[in-house]
Amino acid sequence: MDGGIVNSRVLKSAIDSGACGYLTVDLAALSRNYDKLSAIVAPTKTAAVVKADSYGLGADQVSKVLYGRGCRHFFVAHFIEALRLRPQLPGDATIFVLNGLLSGNEATCADGGIVPVINSLDQLQQWSQTARSLQRRLPAVLQFDTGMSRLGIPPEDRSAVATHLQASDDIDILFIMSHLASADEASSGQNADQLAEMRRVATEFPQYDVSFANSGGIFLGGDFHGVLARPGIALYGGAPTGGVANPMEAVVRLDVAVVQTRTVPEGARVGYAGVHVTKGRTRLATIAAGYADGLPRSLSDRGAVYYNGVRLPIVGRVSMDSTTIDISALPEGALSFGSMVEVLGDHQTVDDLARDAGLISYEILTSLGHRFHRQYR
Ligand SMILES: *Cc1c(COP(=O)(O)O)cnc(C)c1O
Repeated sequence: MDGGIVNSRVLKSAIDSGACGYLTVDLAALSRNYDKLSAIVAPTKTAAVVKADSYGLGADQVSKVLYGRGCRHFFVAHFIEALRLRPQLPGDATIFVLNGLLSGNEATCADGGIVPVINSLDQLQQWSQTARSLQRRLPAVLQFDTGMSRLGIPPEDRSAVATHLQASDDIDILFIMSHLASADEASSGQNADQLAEMRRVATEFPQYDVSFANSGGIFLGGDFHGVLARPGIALYGGAPTGGVANPMEAVVRLDVAVVQTRTVPEGARVGYAGVHVTKGRTRLATIAAGYADGLPRSLSDRGAVYYNGVRLPIVGRVSMDSTTIDISALPEGALSFGSMVEVLGDHQTVDDLARDAGLISYEILTSLGHRFHRQYR
């Protein structure tokens, strides 16, 4: 690949749009990731988890592309995300709200044809009451807590839920679900524990299908698949399982402009608080992305960006709008004002950057800023 040509083309479009960085979302790679996951779980269906603006990549664009690949089940976390997404998708796409509804939102949810995930007996009773007052059956998903203690109906409320459902026919339960706490760790005993608990739930509610696996769960084997898998991070190219090669394709590329270069002598202090002191004569470049753009401050004096495959370490503290890198490994003059460096791309994955920052890929993706020019391919 001729990086010089690619970089000058990238630079031109960034300048055209007034941005100083270029976030590219590869929708073809996203589609291939969806197809790959679908093939693994088939005949189980594959939903798309598009919460937090599709992990920062754009819920509208991502959902439309995945709808085109046959996806009909879309999960968001907050009700407001469902309200925003609903008009973007055809009527045969179903949008599920993982966090359920806050009281007061029931009528809007019913009107919008949005499906709440019911996490408690109270919420079930409330939704039944809404159905009665609207004089029609309303759809819902029931989430059970199988050992994560986060969201879902706790074990002690299961029999009351079953009794409620027997007594009233106003809710149409589409399926039941639970969420895995350690699915990215294939060897964790918690996976088998949660599977056993989910099987107990399924025998108590035998009339309903089960949805269980997130991205990591898909790779734990068929026992975890149920009727509907719910991948998020794997669609967006993050590694679904720790400690093994990532089977997914990268979806995001981030190139950022150099806004200044300089050469400093040995002993120069770099950035806030002067925590980095140069050990010799050093060539530096300052790039136009900082923690407000999603480059975490924990990358201060850690991690790197790349230029034509050459690693350029981050030096000093990451600032709000800029970060300084050591470019001494490049030939003199290789980088100048306006050159583009790779933050995410062929040489650095989102998991690489997350590891250097002491974070997870989910945090990197959901934090990527909105000051870059976004391009969908
Ligand atoms: C976020 C979420 C998912 C998707 O998880 P990934 O690890 O990104 O695949 C699936 N189910 C629930 C309940 C979630 O909250």
